[in-house]
Amino acid sequence: MTFVVTESCINCRHGDCIEVCPVDCFYLGENFLVIHPDECIDCALCEPECPVDAIVCEDELSEDQKVFLEINERLSQSWPNVNEKCEPCPDADHWGTIKEKRHLLKE
Ligand code: SF4
Ligand code: SF4
Repeated sequence: MTFVVTESCINCRHGDCIEVCPVDCFYLGENFLVIHPDECIDCALCEPECPVDAIVCEDELSEDQKVFLEINERLSQSWPNVNEKCEPCPDADHWGTIKEKRHLLKE
């Protein structure tokens, strides 16, 4: 089982989730971050830290967010590991209110 970063994080990427992870399994992209599914220990500590509810347990993903399981798995293999809070994206508070933004993900 793994937790998954979903669409709400795109262009938002507050980074509040990073520092609570006991196994440092977040990987940082330009306007998104992902969780490595083989490294996540399913502790759920990061889930309540996200102000936009972007982090979801794998077995609770809605149909339209299931694609993010594959996206987290694939991008965590090429993006750099991160273990300290990053700078939020510009206008993160605005982007946190936008739901449909999958097309804006910079891979
Ligand atoms: S706290 Fe939420 S919006 Fe911020 S980086 Fe983590 S998953 Fe993305
Ligand atoms: S559920 Fe736990 S191990 Fe998995 S990403 Fe979140 S904080 Fe890290």
